Amino acid sequence: MIIVMQENATREQIDHVFERVRELGYNVHPIYGKQRTVIGAIGDERGKFRLKSLESVPGVESVIPILKPYKLVGRELKKEKTVVRVGEDVAFGSKQFVIIAGPCSVESREQIIETAERVKKAGARMLRGGAFKPRTSPYSFQGLEEEGLELLAEAREKTGLKIVTEVITPQDLPLVSSYADVLQVGARNMQNFALLKQIGQLDKPVLLKRGLSATINEFLMSAEYILSEGNRNVILCERGIRTFETATRNTLDLSAVPLILKMSHLPIIVDPSHGTGVPDLVAPMSKAAAAAGADGVIVEVHSNPETALSDGEQSLDPDAFDRLVGALKPILKAEGRTL
Ligand code: PEP
Ligand code: MN
Repeated sequence: MIIVMQENATREQIDHVFERVRELGYNVHPIYGKQRTVIGAIGDERGKFRLKSLESVPGVESVIPILKPYKLVGRELKKEKTVVRVGEDVAFGSKQFVIIAGPCSVESREQIIETAERVKKAGARMLRGGAFKPRTSPYSFQGLEEEGLELLAEAREKTGLKIVTEVITPQDLPLVSSYADVLQVGARNMQNFALLKQIGQLDKPVLLKRGLSATINEFLMSAEYILSEGNRNVILCERGIRTFETATRNTLDLSAVPLILKMSHLPIIVDPSHGTGVPDLVAPMSKAAAAAGADGVIVEVHSNPETALSDGEQSLDPDAFDRLVGALKPILKAEGRTL
């Protein structure tokens, strides 16, 4: 339920409502707007009508149900867009179109530092790189694990780029979050609810990728798991879904971008690399993502794609990435966005 406070409600009245909501067995999720405070009372759906009695409490204007299954992620409770900040220079959900770039996997010091320096020079704001890799085959390269995280930290030190890297299991979470600026939850883990709940207890930003066969509703419900534990810093990522089409690795569902922007206040970015699997499609789909209103892109770039240990076939080399950023600039300018 949403408890809408009157514009002139006092701090004491708001605190009193918090107390009453908790007594009724619900969690309190306040949103402090410019005009008024609204309070999300989230919990067991079955007893929600008891909350209706709070309408007679001083300072309360109305108590209304949240109709959608995703309560905290939806626009019903929070109308203004969420801005997820990473350090001082990065703001997902703002006018800035955030470009994240880097290799699929961290492979060596030379590879990650060279790639980081090139993507930084081209205009990327963040560096990506997997240290724990969820591979389809158990015989494929699984990542450098902690050594990979150390190399990412070195690249951050050298370039100033913040880093996003994937966490695969709840057990790895303390280690990965001690290095990462943004935790990536991969497509294959989108419904790993144990992992989502643990990440929800941190306040570190999370990049949540859409599952391979997940509907938009399921995607938003996964984000709801993270927010329901308290972490509101979620960035969504459309990365393509499974369809009958085999000419591309996945079918990039760009219509999900404007749709999700309507349904949710969370920022959403696009991954044209996994979304298509075809290097020549990465720049056109990045431009289309910007035109569709995405808050950024995450692009696989490798200093030498031919030698890559994972996803080399879809990675751009640094020169192609330079051209991609160049092609994006006029579109962003026309839309009043910055890099
Ligand atoms: C990745 O980002 O390298 C990755 C494995 O992505 P996804 O989880 O979207 O497949
Ligand atoms: Mn990859």
